[in-house]
Formats: sequence, structure tokens, C-alpha cells
Amino acid sequence: MAERISETLQKKLSSRLSFYEDLGIRLFYRDRGAGAALDNERQVELPATTHFPTIDLEKEKTLPKPAGKPALQKTMPVTTPVIPKIASLPVVAGPSLFESVEKIVGDSLLKTREDLGECTRCKLHSTRHKIVFGDGNPKAELVFVGEGPGADEDAQGLPFVGRAGKLLTQMIEAMGLQRKDVYICNVVKCRPPENRQPAEDEVSTCSPFLMRQIDAIAPKVIVCLGAVAAKTLLQTNRGISQFRGEWLEFRGRKLLATYHPAYLLRNPPAKSEVWKDLQKVMAVLGLEVKKGKSA
Ligand code: URA
Repeated sequence: MAERISETLQKKLSSRLSFYEDLGIRLFYRDRGAGAALDNERQVELPATTHFPTIDLEKEKTLPKPAGKPALQKTMPVTTPVIPKIASLPVVAGPSLFESVEKIVGDSLLKTREDLGECTRCKLHSTRHKIVFGDGNPKAELVFVGEGPGADEDAQGLPFVGRAGKLLTQMIEAMGLQRKDVYICNVVKCRPPENRQPAEDEVSTCSPFLMRQIDAIAPKVIVCLGAVAAKTLLQTNRGISQFRGEWLEFRGRKLLATYHPAYLLRNPPAKSEVWKDLQKVMAVLGLEVKKGKSA
């Protein structure tokens, strides 16, 4: 007999399902069940008691600690290798923010965190509660870069744990990954007051630490969430919609910019665009794009 589930869990399940619907993913749960050889054409009603084998919604608030081994390697490779075309962007005039940031031999996330210390390098320190350095797998193949902590992140010291963070977690899980498989960080490590955009001097003071994080992790792919991250790493003044979803290059690594989850909360139809972008990332990482999922 099926186990009863709580009302909270039912609500979470239903919001999760609408999220997948928004992305254009249908019946993804059928592929995940052991030996689920269901016909993708025939839609069935999802009973309220349906159990997700790989996503524990009750534990969603607990963020995983950095894992030693990336789970990305365990996933099935796509049959056709995808060689993304890398475009180049016109850059802003003047010296690059990162020109002086040489790769530090033997650097690590730990050392970078130690060097950041109880930072007072810019004015954001005076209003922050906690520094939000970053979280996830230090050997991740995929790094997400956001803009800067919000109130929830500032209180917990962890990136993307508020509403936008929950959506990001859903996006990561829709890719067949978990938060502990990827690394998540921001351009600035302290919350800008009133959630304003970080100022230029704050970005230029803090971003060398982001650079060191990226160099230390050496991911295959960097996904910029929103314009601030994209403009910071790409040093461009172009609007994100002009290059969103294109493969670009950052210090020899593949970079793709997509919309920020906070933007998706305000504009849910854009989720399908983001899902298309994430599918490109999945292809490069050799993550299986399941049949029956469409953008
Ligand atoms: N928005 C961001 O850009 N970063 C966070 O960590 C949370 C919200």
C-alpha cells in the first residue's frame, strides 16, 4: 500500500511538476524509475503518492558539502559528440579587469578563501552578515556564477539558497545533477544593500577572487547566471540577450551566459530558453538529454 505524503511535500511536488512543465519537460519521472519502460507518447496521471527516486524534496533545504569526486563522470555519454562553436565578443575599451590576474601556481579554493579572510576591501563589508564565498564540488566540471548574495545567502553564508536558489537547484536537478556535483559562486561575495547591483569598484575589488576560484576548480564549462556575471567575465557592454545561449570563451574555458533565476521568477516563459541553454551545457558535459524532454 502506498505511503501517505505530507501536504507540504505534496505542494513541493506540485510546484516541482509545474516547473518541469514550464521547461517543457514531460514525464521525466517515468525514465527514472527502475525499469520504467513506459511509452512517452501516452500521458498518464501522476498519482499524488508518486515517489521520486532521485530527488528528496524533504531534504531540499540541506545543502550538500563539497564532494571529492564529480558525479558528472558517471553519467552516460551522448552518442554524438557535440563540438560547440565558440564565438568571440567585442570587448569594452581599456585594460581588462583580469589582465593582471595571473594564474597562481598551486592555488586552491582553500587558499583563496584564506586570502579573502574577513574581507574589508570594499564598502560591502560594512553591511554584510556573512561572506558568501561559494559552495559545491571543488573539482566540478560545471561552475555557475551569479551576481551577489541576497538576504538569505547573507544570513546563511551560502550561495543561491533563497527563492532564486531553489529554482537554480531545480534547474541543476533537471540536468540530472545535484548541487554537490557543481560549484556555485558569485561575482561579489558580500550582499549589496537592498539587493542593488554591485558597483563597479565592488566588482573589480572582488572578482580576482572569482578568477582564482575558477582557475582552482578548472571546470569544463562556466555558466554565467545573468548580465552582471556575464559582463564581468566577458568584459563586454553588450546586453545579455545578444549573446545568451552562445558558446563563448573565458580564459580558455567554455562559457555560456543564460538568464538569472531571479529573472525567471519574474518571467516564467523564459524558462524554456534557459532549458535550451542548459541542454547545450549537458551535451558538452556528456550528460544524457533524455528522450521525451523537449524545450
Ligand atoms: N542571486 C545571486 O546572484 N546570487 C545568489 O547567491 C543569490 C541570488
